[in-house]
Amino acid sequence: MSLFGCIEAGGTKFVVGVGTSPDDLQTISVPTTSPAATLEKVISFLRQKAGRELSAVGVGAFGPVDLRPESPTFGYITSTPKVEWQQCDLAWTLQRALEVPIGFDTDVNAAAAGEARWGAGRGIPDFIYLTVGTGIGGGAMVNGELIHGMLHPEMGHVRIPHNLAEDAYPGGCPYHQDCLEGLASGPAMQARWGAAAQSLPDDHPAWALEARYLALGLATWVCTLSPERMVLGGGVMQNTNLFPMIRKELLRLLNGYIHANPLLDQIDAYVVPPELGNRAGVLGAMVLAEHIFRNPSARIGAPLAGEDAWR
Ligand code: ADP
Ligand code: ZN
Repeated sequence: MSLFGCIEAGGTKFVVGVGTSPDDLQTISVPTTSPAATLEKVISFLRQKAGRELSAVGVGAFGPVDLRPESPTFGYITSTPKVEWQQCDLAWTLQRALEVPIGFDTDVNAAAAGEARWGAGRGIPDFIYLTVGTGIGGGAMVNGELIHGMLHPEMGHVRIPHNLAEDAYPGGCPYHQDCLEGLASGPAMQARWGAAAQSLPDDHPAWALEARYLALGLATWVCTLSPERMVLGGGVMQNTNLFPMIRKELLRLLNGYIHANPLLDQIDAYVVPPELGNRAGVLGAMVLAEHIFRNPSARIGAPLAGEDAWR
């Protein structure tokens, strides 16, 4: 059995694991400080646990990241607002230190890969994974493949109808102000209401507004990607009361136009939490590692491809 290194590279912490399968995965958490300090800890954990036995390492990273093999900054974190991490050659640093193939993708594509293999995306070739936390991001599985395209999806930055008379908060995205992330991320809730999302009571108007903004995003992807399921994770979705509110609002927004059973008759199974919970990202990194291991000719971070690669 192959031993894989799994890294969920987040903006606040890195979750690092070693294992052959979800059953024996051992993880630690390393705070995200400077690239040098964080990666030193990540690398020493992997060396200590696996020595030279690692077959491959998978990395699901906060971004934006460069996933184009022909690019000079392929395998890098690029224009992140986290200044110290701008232009960090993350995948290459790991490759030089560990001398194994590195599978590299966005954090949300990794989570989608994990859910596809072991979670809410099993047997479903078309679904999206959305995280609603410090930021909002999405990964899309289409025909059993993760979408990359020109860059990678940036679902958190879709534009959302914003009625300023009803919601005077201008939005917090440094690029777009009131895009979905600007209006509906955890920090946006905190800035609008003056309290952390987890401290707002269930009957607070914050939740209906949050459900509306998220449902507007989901309606966009229902109409563009035609997913068979939508998996919603991240800190804000820990308030599970949001699920029924989002489902209802999504159906209201679509207004009967789309006639499809998974949406209409099984809405409770259409918009769902991740089955892997907060392990989706790190287990997704295991899928990325296994994928790159099975494709030895693929370069670090090569776009993920291959028939049924995720199952
Ligand atoms: P990150 O995006 O950094 O990985 P999380 O996904 O945990 O982190 O998201 C952090 C955000 O989630 C914070 O803005 C926090 O206020 C919010 N959050 C955490 N727990 C809850 C909760 N139980 N209900 C609603 N919001 C929460
Ligand atoms: Zn934005």
